[in-house]
Amino acid sequence: TADAAELSARYPDALEPLAAVVGADLAAPLVTGGSVRYANLDYAASAPALAEVADHLTEVLPFYASVHRGAGYASQISTSVYENARGTVRAFAGARPDDAVVFTRNTTDSLNLLAGCVPPGLDVLYLDIEHHANLLPWQGRPHRSVVAADTVAETLERLGAELAHGGVGLLAVTGASNVTGEVLPLAELAALAHAHGARILVDAAQLAPHRRIDMAGDPGAVTGIDYLAFSGHKLYAPFGSGVLVGRPDWLDAGRPHLAGGGAVSEVRLESVAWATGPARHEAGSPNVLGAATLARAAEVLGALDPVAWTRHEEQLRAALVDGLEAIDGVGVHRLFADAPSAIGVVNFSIAGYDAGLAAAYLSAEHGIGVRDGRFCAHPALTRLGLPAGSLRASFGVGSRLEDVERLVAAVGQLVEAGL
Ligand code: PLP
Repeated sequence: TADAAELSARYPDALEPLAAVVGADLAAPLVTGGSVRYANLDYAASAPALAEVADHLTEVLPFYASVHRGAGYASQISTSVYENARGTVRAFAGARPDDAVVFTRNTTDSLNLLAGCVPPGLDVLYLDIEHHANLLPWQGRPHRSVVAADTVAETLERLGAELAHGGVGLLAVTGASNVTGEVLPLAELAALAHAHGARILVDAAQLAPHRRIDMAGDPGAVTGIDYLAFSGHKLYAPFGSGVLVGRPDWLDAGRPHLAGGGAVSEVRLESVAWATGPARHEAGSPNVLGAATLARAAEVLGALDPVAWTRHEEQLRAALVDGLEAIDGVGVHRLFADAPSAIGVVNFSIAGYDAGLAAAYLSAEHGIGVRDGRFCAHPALTRLGLPAGSLRASFGVGSRLEDVERLVAAVGQLVEAGL
């Protein structure tokens, strides 16, 4: 098996240039006694808050007040923090100036919102490898699905064939798989959708925390992303906030996501005129702190050198994949033979070991947090031939080579000991 020293020697550049931006280390208790620095390899579920995000929360908290309707000082500050957060998110997403930025609870909420706005009579098209959040909201309305092939190239052909039948209004795709980390060629997918008169939504719950996104793309090209959704808690900010960014026409004409105060321009006892703009979908008192912290996280990530950001993660990923594949009986799973790249999400199984028990062992004996199960993507796991689930290690900004080395060493020990 690859041991930790060998990995360090092979990946000397996998430094931790970004480690300082994530909050304090945590100590994880071990079942054998004592404790060890917690190796958080579960970023894809929820990423730890950035130190700057935590600072911003403390900064904004004293001004915590209801937005939009109050004339008081705190309300004015809160309103401007909330509204400015839209601009920050727009810049982070590389959105067009007229794109709407709607704050939601999370990606799931954003996709449900959009499902209520796709014009009636148009189908939504999606692949079978999606997270349930990008499957189930579409199933409540006219939709079609395509089974992904073993290569991205053939998958694009299948999507193209389905789009060519006509009647598809929206192609809904993952930016990066939450199961395997593989990234799809978004510009190609966007061009494909647009060539057939459809729009494209990118579920960026996993992509946004790992890669620079440019929704607008080249203004002269047809490669832009029409809608983008992501969550604060995967973007190194707290739970409870998400965003949907995209073209305003469908959003302004669609069913208001929630009915209530703030989403209206005029209400009579038996009738209502709904507002347009983000307010249409943001009824009720909004999550000001969630929006503010999501925006601060976007600002910090947006300021990272994109090359160093990606390189840091690619090196950790290569070290982990190589280390795991060098262990007898350990298999790393991929959906495609030709995915253009992958983020810091690695899916694997250990032959003869139940994924849940292995994850419990890694936590209890080594202080390493990974995820096990089917990752809210049952059809994807079926396609991978893993109906009983697998293990997923995920990392990002602030992760260290040492975290990955510890996982490889722990899996190696488990297999060698034959526990
Ligand atoms: N889409 C993908 C690809 C995800 O990984 C997740 C969460 O795991 C979601 C959507 C749903 O995100 P949330 O639970 O924040 O709504």
